[in-house]
Amino acid sequence: MRDIVILGSTGSIGRQALDIVDMHPGRFRVTGLTAHSNDLLFVEQVKKYRPLMAGLTGKSISPPSGTDFCQWHFGPSALEVASSQVPCDDVLVAVVGMIGLGSVLNARKTGKRVLLANKEALVAGGQLVKDLCPDDPQNPALLPVDSEHSAIYQCLMGAKAKCFRRIILTASGGPFMAWSADRIAHATLDEALSHPTWRMGEKITIDSASMFNKALEIIEAKWLFDATPGQIQVLVHPSSIVHSMVEFADGALLAQMGLPDMRVPIAFAMAYPERITTGVRPMAPEDFSNLRFEKPDFERFPALRLAYEALSAGGAACCVLNAANEIAVNGYLHHAIRFGQIARVVEETLAALGPMPADTLEAILDADRRSREKSREIINQISKEDI
Ligand code: NDP
Ligand code: MG
Repeated sequence: MRDIVILGSTGSIGRQALDIVDMHPGRFRVTGLTAHSNDLLFVEQVKKYRPLMAGLTGKSISPPSGTDFCQWHFGPSALEVASSQVPCDDVLVAVVGMIGLGSVLNARKTGKRVLLANKEALVAGGQLVKDLCPDDPQNPALLPVDSEHSAIYQCLMGAKAKCFRRIILTASGGPFMAWSADRIAHATLDEALSHPTWRMGEKITIDSASMFNKALEIIEAKWLFDATPGQIQVLVHPSSIVHSMVEFADGALLAQMGLPDMRVPIAFAMAYPERITTGVRPMAPEDFSNLRFEKPDFERFPALRLAYEALSAGGAACCVLNAANEIAVNGYLHHAIRFGQIARVVEETLAALGPMPADTLEAILDADRRSREKSREIINQISKEDI
């Protein structure tokens, strides 16, 4: 029996993690749950899983009757309590945005294994997270949940550290892969929210359409696998069957494949090192015909270029990129900017702020705050230009 705390239990990843718990009675005990604003679903979850602690970060409610088996916490500090004080083996960090960084650090400081969906935490504070995750393949401190990084992790199992030549991150390409730059620039919210292969939360769906999701994943791969930017390549693979690949020095290329369903990488991390059922249909090899891969277009999708530039700039540039993207996506969701202006906000924020350190949590929080301020200013400026 493994005890698990799930941060972001009402989200797409959180709900699928609870599906895995349901499929395996007696294997997992949910000791803590947090959500942000969806109190109706959250109360149902709390009543069903009976955690020791329940945290609602975005609002306060009266603890519902019949839930006195758990301690309730309200407001942002609920994440801190859930990640550091609730007894458990694993903390699944499935909140959205760099708000998850503190939880990742707390969980590691209190000796828990982190199951990481929240890629923004690693993008913003990669070095700090890495410093708290000793490299021990027998007892990993952190397991990736992101499907590409789970695939790479699986391809590297049993391999000696750093023996790969290249990591190939696959990308579905999102809904705009075949669109012209001009059409992408004016994409509507409905168009950006209709992802061809994955059903996910709103923010990551927009990120997938702009390819900022892949930009964040390039940076995530650097920290998870100690890869240089030159060792990380992105290939567009629209059917999302090959979840990623690793090329080794001997010329071997290992891939992890399957239907695109997040329950596989979620269950892989939750049950590691065992493999458990997920309800996902396995693919027959004859279905693997016509696998298509192509190089991404850095012109129509500047996010990829910006990721490599931020990696080579070092310091807090990746943190700045992430924060500016969070603000720009929010601006797009609220109709303050057009789709094509998301990358512009990020690029102009990076240019305006210049180099900043990222060696302490304070430095990262400062860079994050300054990036958010600057990108809000840029969005205001863009809105004025458009009038
Ligand atoms: P969702 O938007 O579906 O869920 C986000 C969760 O976080 C919800 O439980 C939400 O609560 C909670 N939340 C939102 N804002 C805050 C906040 N400010 N503080 C604390 N909690 C908050 O997102 P996803 O599940 O899609 O994604 C979660 C993370 O996993 C992201 O980092 C994403 O990039 C990553 N990921 C997701 C994949 C997917 O398939 N969905 C695939 C790979 C990675 P509430 O709903 O109650 O408001
Ligand atoms: Mg992914």
